[in-house]
Amino acid sequence: AEAEARYTAANPESAARHAAARQPMPGGNTRTVLHYSPFPLAWAKGEGAILTDFDGHDYVDYLGEYSAGLYGHSNPQIQAAMKKAIDDGTVLGGPNRYEAELAALISARFPSLQKLRFCNSGTEANVFALMTARAVTKRGKIMVFDGGYHGGVLYFGHGGIPINLPLDWVLAPYNDTEGTLALIRQHGADLAAILIEPMLGSGGCLPARRDFLGALRQAASELGIILIFDEVMSSRLSSGGLQAATGVTPDMTTLGKYLGGGASFGAFGGRSDIMDHYDPERPGYWPHAGTFNNNVLSMAAGLTGLRDIYTPEAAVLLNAKGDRLRDGINHLARKHDVPLVATGTGSFLGIHFSREMPDRPRHESAEVEALHGKLHKLMHLDFIDVGLFFARRGYMALSLALTEAQIDRFIAQTEEFILSRKG
Ligand code: PLP
Repeated sequence: AEAEARYTAANPESAARHAAARQPMPGGNTRTVLHYSPFPLAWAKGEGAILTDFDGHDYVDYLGEYSAGLYGHSNPQIQAAMKKAIDDGTVLGGPNRYEAELAALISARFPSLQKLRFCNSGTEANVFALMTARAVTKRGKIMVFDGGYHGGVLYFGHGGIPINLPLDWVLAPYNDTEGTLALIRQHGADLAAILIEPMLGSGGCLPARRDFLGALRQAASELGIILIFDEVMSSRLSSGGLQAATGVTPDMTTLGKYLGGGASFGAFGGRSDIMDHYDPERPGYWPHAGTFNNNVLSMAAGLTGLRDIYTPEAAVLLNAKGDRLRDGINHLARKHDVPLVATGTGSFLGIHFSREMPDRPRHESAEVEALHGKLHKLMHLDFIDVGLFFARRGYMALSLALTEAQIDRFIAQTEEFILSRKG
């Protein structure tokens, strides 16, 4: 209560904007994840790794727009690409100068995407990939995983949500090979697709084990099921995504987030024999629509980002920064003997109030969940108080703009937090 009162007193402009936004938008919100109580900070601008709110406070941004902000804020190269695109016209109604080059570059970096199509979001990419798999296999069911997140109407988990697409889905246990294979054996003949994040992102930054993914690959091949990797988040984790890092090759992949350079973006693709159904010269082709699929701003910014900034070497360096932050946090938790652990891999981190490194979502009692919720809130508000920003749930997606000194600062603040809040 004391941390919340201090937060409210320090942020009158954000509070006023939240109150005004509540009139036209439910909860003042147009994207649930951006809400946290008592009200979210409203951002006036961002530059590099620094976010500035409407009350004039600066924050180091460790959230990185839930991974879409890979390039940091207002990256000059991205800005120049967007400005050129604006000067040349943004709503042209035909192929533009960027899309084929971006598609070729993505295909070169992620060879399993022999052919791909662009769309507007990761959600849309997953919808198209799932529908494609259903059309290819002429089967109806899909397998998804506990803790997985694939978009606003593709939120599975126990029971799903009322606004989900009416898909027939089977929920499998993440990183549990035996449990998952049993379900595949049971439903195999009806399964069109297995859709999996090779690292659970929203589900807590929990990477899949390579042998688990390998078992899925083998079962999918044997039973004619399309294996889809949702790399909307994880594609940044090596120059070829987690599929390159694990050596497990899916039939289809979905992409999004930073690949649009900060503009809205999605892509789905995979084996040519699957994707060629979308070739309009082909008799009986499948139509694929979307007014802004080749949105000039996304194509221009995405191409500049991937070609000129997020080189394979840059991916290695960024992952090393994330590994150092994770090791630093985990070292402090052990040193002070507190139940706190940083999960994830490379530039993604998840903070959990646990002693063990979890490898799948834990289903705690309501009491424990409430306690963890309180601790997440306390940590979030304590860090905001000293100018460090990440997601309330403990999620971080590091950007290229973060310096080693800013990594050190987060580690030092973690020790402060542990010492001041222990017990
Ligand atoms: N898939 C994963 C793994 C994601 O993390 C997200 C977004 O957080 C999505 C899909 C949905 O992407 P979008 O928000 O662009 O629709």
